[in-house]
Amino acid sequence: MEAVEIHAEPLDALAELLEPERAELFLSTASFARGLLSGRIVWNINSTASGGGVAEMLQTLLAYARGAEVDTRWLVLEGDPQFFEITKALHNALHGSLVGRTGFDSVDQAHYERVMQANLAQLRGMVRPGDVVLLHDPQTAGLAAGLKQLGAHVVWRCHIGRDESTEITDLGWAFLRQHVLAADAFVFSRVSYIPDWVPRERAVVIQPSIDPFSTKNAEIVGADVRRILLEVGLVHNGDVRETFEFQRRTGEHGVLRRHADLVSNAPPPITAPLVVQVSRWDRLKDMPGVLTGFAAHVAPHTRDAHLVLAGPDVSGVSDDPEGAQVYAECRELWRRLPDDVRGRCHLASLPMDDVDENAFIVNALQRHAAIVVQKSLVEGFGLTLTEAMWKGRPVVASAVGGLQDQLTDGDEGLLLGDPADLESFGKLVTRLLEEPELRAAMGQRGQERVRRTFLGDRHLIEWVHLLRALAA
Ligand code: UDP
Repeated sequence: MEAVEIHAEPLDALAELLEPERAELFLSTASFARGLLSGRIVWNINSTASGGGVAEMLQTLLAYARGAEVDTRWLVLEGDPQFFEITKALHNALHGSLVGRTGFDSVDQAHYERVMQANLAQLRGMVRPGDVVLLHDPQTAGLAAGLKQLGAHVVWRCHIGRDESTEITDLGWAFLRQHVLAADAFVFSRVSYIPDWVPRERAVVIQPSIDPFSTKNAEIVGADVRRILLEVGLVHNGDVRETFEFQRRTGEHGVLRRHADLVSNAPPPITAPLVVQVSRWDRLKDMPGVLTGFAAHVAPHTRDAHLVLAGPDVSGVSDDPEGAQVYAECRELWRRLPDDVRGRCHLASLPMDDVDENAFIVNALQRHAAIVVQKSLVEGFGLTLTEAMWKGRPVVASAVGGLQDQLTDGDEGLLLGDPADLESFGKLVTRLLEEPELRAAMGQRGQERVRRTFLGDRHLIEWVHLLRALAA
């Protein structure tokens, strides 16, 4: 297992952003947590230190936990490609989708268990009785029973789910259930994601959050946004060169590099209104559908809008074996577009060798977007949407899963009833592109909504409530 470094983030800046009463509750809960967890370690175990929403959230939440002087640690489990193929299939199955498989067999079970045992062997020297272990997602579910035997309190946090069960979701749960039932508590993002077999009194709903001060979300002034995107090569405007520094999570400074091969073709002009989706190259995010929908139903009705599909450089994400395939499919679709439309569609492959730089680029791109879309086919909870709303961007999102809890149709953006309906998708995007005032009003309401509901204070307080119940 690999330990991920966590820096301590003082709570003051976040507290200052809140109304006094809310700030007071945040700080007093932090102080309560310090006492409650004193002498214990709170372990978090997941499958990657970068790439995707779980890693994104752990980076910021654990920094606040450390800032509250709770001894929290972050471990990334070890697995081989076969293990990550199985767990990616489980991830898809819980979302109701199986690609290239009919189910899971005893060979999968045996391999999964072997990897769990190998990881447990390492945990035996670290986790002590009374510690708290928060396991994240299917990759870590099978550690629950072994950790209970070590005397730890175990919580399984499942970040994915589907509103209604299907034969395929049942297959996924049938695989995982036996592994994870030993956990003391289960955390989901929506009530409808809680499977029937989870004892209701052990299940809790906690929605994700974003951190307004992270490299991903910290304020960047408008003129800098454009200069950053020019410098990094995501938009073009002649050949202006500048040097940009950004603040890392640790507080140190990083220097933005120029990436000549960031986009599939010439980058969009700096003046073009951008429609942006930022996602992992996961089939269920439907990057190909966004590309086809934009090409067929947005480009012909708008003069100057461009599409940017941005995702991680696929060689940099170890726990997502599907990424390279989906990216290749997008490349192929893009290559076959008519010349004039192809020039307005861009696939951006963002470097993953420096996660802070990656976050800084995403930050600037989301801020520069005219509209941020999240046209997922299913979605547990889309952090990308909340990140965009915090930046005052209007959004277009599929009315699926957690996305429906993140915005109200017509208030902060528009919801697409059927994510497979590309014509309706095109109409919603085109409508917003044509109405700058509506975009501005929605963007403003989006930011207010995130401030009200999706910041870390609410999230951390809910975790403390759960840990208090467990300790009792
Ligand atoms: N992300 C990123 N760089 C990328 C693609 C995605 O930093 O190239 C981030 C994105 O900003 C968000 C997270 O990865 O913070 C994705 O979280 P989300 O909940 O939207 O989806 P998940 O990947 O967890 O399914």
